[in-house]
Amino acid sequence: MKRTDFWIKTSKTEQSAAEEPSKNARLLTRAGYVNRQMAGVYAYLPIGLRVLEKIKNIVRREMNAVGGAELVMSSLQPREVWQTTGRWDDEVVDVWFKTKLKDETEVGLAWSHEEAILQTVGRELTSYRDLPVSVYQFQTKLRNELRAKSGIMRGREFVMKDMYSMHTSEQDLADYYEKVKQAYGRVFEQLGLGQDTFVTFASGGAFTKFSHEYQTICDAGEDWLYLDRARNIAVNEEVLDDAVAELGLDKSKLEKVRSAEVGNIFNFGDAKARDMGVEFMGEDGQKHPLYLGSYGIGITRVMGVLAEKFSDERGLVWPAAVAPFQVYLVGIGEAGERQANELYTKFIQAGIEVLWDDRDARVGEKLADADLLGIPYRVVVSDKTLGQGKIELKSRTGEPELVAPDELLTFFASLL
Ligand code: ATP
Ligand code: MG
Repeated sequence: MKRTDFWIKTSKTEQSAAEEPSKNARLLTRAGYVNRQMAGVYAYLPIGLRVLEKIKNIVRREMNAVGGAELVMSSLQPREVWQTTGRWDDEVVDVWFKTKLKDETEVGLAWSHEEAILQTVGRELTSYRDLPVSVYQFQTKLRNELRAKSGIMRGREFVMKDMYSMHTSEQDLADYYEKVKQAYGRVFEQLGLGQDTFVTFASGGAFTKFSHEYQTICDAGEDWLYLDRARNIAVNEEVLDDAVAELGLDKSKLEKVRSAEVGNIFNFGDAKARDMGVEFMGEDGQKHPLYLGSYGIGITRVMGVLAEKFSDERGLVWPAAVAPFQVYLVGIGEAGERQANELYTKFIQAGIEVLWDDRDARVGEKLADADLLGIPYRVVVSDKTLGQGKIELKSRTGEPELVAPDELLTFFASLL
């Protein structure tokens, strides 16, 4: 894209902590990725959307690989569906936004979709031959969260990937659950969070005692994690004593760190289908409630965690896999601008994601933006280096080096 075609609004100064308490939101706002509409509600601007789409595509590939079929459920939810499990009740679920239709019918704004999926997909699976089925979506969830001080890490409106799998048996669900666990591992690896993300023992398993959360070490997180690094076991604070007893951990040796829940997976057993009366005809000719697994990833929260973890005093430092562009291209001087234009065309033809700063602006401003936006590589074409037949290449965190133009193309093509 050319910067003059692709609207980005960066800012020279950062908001104060009073204006915006969260680092990720201050940074992402300054760099023009998001715009705060109200507390806990952010718009994703063009360059921000590119990052979200990158994250979604990494997740999408892995969910497809475990046989998930993508759909999109509705945001408006009928009350009746949620009454079947008692989760319409505000005492049970305290994050509901509810509203009324013109005829006074009460409806809810979706904060999750377990019930809706069982109603929509589960009820169609009438025979054991129809199962297993796994469906997932990227959907904007609405939650009336009490506190929204963590920027995009805790939104009142946020994008979640939620997948639901339905099975004929406990064992089939358990096997699939393991497959998804592997897929999640690959997702966080690709997102550049593999090192710092732990599958943790959390409370609230409906079927087994524990559920599993994916927690990423992050100072801005809202959770505490207890790590036994040697055994590679991580436990959430809320189940610590239980887990220590059950897993035979030495409590005094556990390392306590701040973390953010970036995903979770949940085995509902057949409890939810039982509550809702969602049954299939088994091979035995009898009706049985189906088994449900639910698997979430906080897409916008992941983006917030990445911004928190990967930045320096000059701005963002995106891992290449989620960066909105791979190259930020700047031309200096008349010949430099002309060469930058030619290089831009070559990059585009080679399928390299390039943002060419073709604005009529000071060079210093362009270079500062390249850093602020956190693009992995910066290419500067100037009269000066062209005289030596070279172009300047610099990685976001490295030193500039001079390379020949065709070397440059080969280098970027090798990253594809
Ligand atoms: P939390 O304990 O952080 O409130 P949760 O247990 O309510 O999370 P789920 O309902 O299981 O979370 O949602 C699945 C995933 O969606 C979470 O693991 C998290 O990554 C993300 N998520 C949950 N609430 C929010 C929110 N308010 N803003 C952004 N992401 C969220
Ligand atoms: Mg919550």
